[in-house]
Amino acid sequence: MSETMTRAAVLILLGPPGAGKGTQARMLEERFGLVQLSTGDLLRAAVTAGTEAGLAAKAVMEAGQLVSDDIVLAILKDRMAEPDTAKGVILDGFPRTPGQAEALDALLSAQEMAIDAAISLEVDDAEMVRRVSGRYTCADCGEGYHDEFKQPATAETCDKCGGTAFKRRADDNAETVGARLTAYHASTAPLIAYYEARGVLRRVDGMAAIDAIATDLGAIVAEVTA
Ligand code: AMP
Repeated sequence: MSETMTRAAVLILLGPPGAGKGTQARMLEERFGLVQLSTGDLLRAAVTAGTEAGLAAKAVMEAGQLVSDDIVLAILKDRMAEPDTAKGVILDGFPRTPGQAEALDALLSAQEMAIDAAISLEVDDAEMVRRVSGRYTCADCGEGYHDEFKQPATAETCDKCGGTAFKRRADDNAETVGARLTAYHASTAPLIAYYEARGVLRRVDGMAAIDAIATDLGAIVAEVTA
């Protein structure tokens, strides 16, 4: 059962590719009954569906660069308009540019909502290449695995749902991760100062064990949404 919350919470997870944003967002989602909103997942779904936005985003994503703010904002606004987000959202991979951060502020204030916390997962770049290069997920339930750090208990069978099909992202290779890290430092890292100036920034050691990070994040979410 999830912990109860009286109003819609808005949480942002900041951090480079491989920092663990997706893993942690999924854990917070379960624990607090929030909705994980990953613009990367939404864009990958648009690519698979072959929508106009997906067609425009595909090559940019494969090159490890940022999709234009216009496309990302349109996708995010559509998703935010769905009723399940009324419980609160964990933004994973959004905002990624100062323009997106300003657009988010405008979107939230129009709905009389505000950011409860922007949580920066603090990690070492070198380790991120290793983490991202080996990761894969269950094609059925999305559970995450890693060649080096987390193999299924029974070979080629998902621990969570028993599925036997797995997939890797096209951009999870050492070469593209370099471009994604460069994009992070150039465009997204400045948001740490942006949210610090607004008094909502929280920093968490993203190099700790997954459960320890989850404990730190859970304490922050419980505190800011109390
Ligand atoms: P992610 O799943 O968050 O690692 O995102 C995968 C890719 O999708 C990124 O490398 C970008 O090409 C694109 N992307 C995801 N979110 C955004 C965003 N907020 N702004 C621009 N591009 C994004």
